[in-house]
Amino acid sequence: MDKLRKTIIYRLHGINYIGSTIQKLKDRKWRHNTDLHNENSKCYNTKLYKHMRKNKLNVKLIIIKILFVGSYGRKRAEQDYINLYDSINNGYNTIRAYRTEREKKENDRLYRLNYKRNKIKIREYTRLYYKKNKEIIRQKEKKRINCSICNKNICAKHVKRHQRSDYCKSFQ
Ligand SMILES: [Zn+2]
Repeated sequence: MDKLRKTIIYRLHGINYIGSTIQKLKDRKWRHNTDLHNENSKCYNTKLYKHMRKNKLNVKLIIIKILFVGSYGRKRAEQDYINLYDSINNGYNTIRAYRTEREKKENDRLYRLNYKRNKIKIREYTRLYYKKNKEIIRQKEKKRINCSICNKNICAKHVKRHQRSDYCKSFQ
């Protein structure tokens, strides 16, 4: 079961950024400060902290709402406030806390569409690549090696096929 916890939805003073925490506010503030100032922190180079360092902004958390929710409810509430403050497009949130089913579906649709479009591009790119490198490829394909199993001299291009042959199999 998703345990209900006291959850604070907050924003940063002077910055359009929404966060949520189940920690004490002072502990969350301490973590923001670590991310802001410690180069080894994995969030050090996010848009938010770059902006804060550049403009010499301090971490000051302002409570928007206190809720008793589970982790699902927390993500959902945080996302509602991210939407309300438009803090992805016009602020410093970068990760979506929560996606609705509809958003997920729309995302999948766009992904597939993009893939389809790229497939044509990739095919065309491959065609041009082969045309340009025909001679080099032909040379590569002509390369001969000794089979690592039967030691027969074979065409490098057909190693796999060769190793399935009865001849090579008699050595396996
Ligand atoms: Zn062989």
